[in-house]
Amino acid sequence: MTIDDVLKLVRPHLLALQPYSSARDEFDQSVVAQEKFVFLDANENPFETGHNRYPDPHQRELKTRISEIKGVAANKIFLGNGSDEAIDLVVRLFCDSSNNILITTPTYGMYKVSAEINNVQLKTVLLDSNFGLTDDFLAATDSNTKVIFLCSPNNPSGNLLDTRALENILNKFKGIVVIDEAYIDFTGLPAGEAGQPGWLKRLDQYPNLIVLQTFSKAWGLAGLRLGMAFANPQIISLLDKIKPPYNISSATQRLAAQALADISYMERSVKTILAERTRLASELGKLRTVTKVFPSDANFILIRINNAAKVYNELVWQHVVVRDRSQVRRCEDCLRITVGTAEENDILLNALKSL
Ligand SMILES: *Cc1c(COP(=O)(O)O)cnc(C)c1O
Repeated sequence: MTIDDVLKLVRPHLLALQPYSSARDEFDQSVVAQEKFVFLDANENPFETGHNRYPDPHQRELKTRISEIKGVAANKIFLGNGSDEAIDLVVRLFCDSSNNILITTPTYGMYKVSAEINNVQLKTVLLDSNFGLTDDFLAATDSNTKVIFLCSPNNPSGNLLDTRALENILNKFKGIVVIDEAYIDFTGLPAGEAGQPGWLKRLDQYPNLIVLQTFSKAWGLAGLRLGMAFANPQIISLLDKIKPPYNISSATQRLAAQALADISYMERSVKTILAERTRLASELGKLRTVTKVFPSDANFILIRINNAAKVYNELVWQHVVVRDRSQVRRCEDCLRITVGTAEENDILLNALKSL
């Protein structure tokens, strides 16, 4: 596909949309950052609270920093109020009620919810019993399929999706392919290293590719609500056009920039989580009631356990909360367990042993 083919997928009224022009758009402070101005343009309260001014609607400083760390040009970066906002905006940008999106079962729940909120039809294809993509995945698309959401490493199964299978989809599908990499920092390879499993480096090759990442997992900033979408600059500028102007608060912009200034903190916590993942998987595997520990490239482990729904409730009585996925197809009798601290993981293991 070319970028012109991609632009034909955009809902026409959004291509034509004149976006809201904020006070901060009509007067760009950054060009005169050295000088002092009196700002009487945005109906802000002039008295200092630390947050009395509207934030930069383009998040320039934060994007510059993310651009350096990810090795992706700033004009290929969109920032959302969580990646959940990016998911919703992608659905809205491309799909109306005559369209459908295609996802796998199992996968992350928000793709379905965003489709339903926007009155967009949903198609699902089962992954195989090891949670891999099947050869007939694209057979489920039709001429109204606009967007495919794929999650790699997949939630709740924890596995990376096969590179060849994703390439095949990107090459053949005449629509948008979103690859959600919320857990990409847990695959065990340092970011930027050769052989790194992520898809950011393939953006130039595929104008129909959108990669999602988030600050909620490896970066430990779920409470701030900050997600990233990476794509062709023309897709990014369309997402920017339809987002709420001040979608990323000044507190979030400042605190995320602080976290990005010291990557080593994030790297150390990821390393500890990976070591605990190995230990937890091995200990879970020793339990008599656990019939399967699925391999994980993420910060959680999916296990199959006898009477999963009952075990879930018994764990809650012991004040340990895991995620019961046993009602999801392919996840029968499965629990999804987030890797915690060593102490938390021991509490879980002891609780399971006591059942
Ligand atoms: C946790 C998660 C996210 C993160 O969403 P945010 O809105 O950025 O917190 C996105 N995708 C998947 C698959 C997730 O599991």
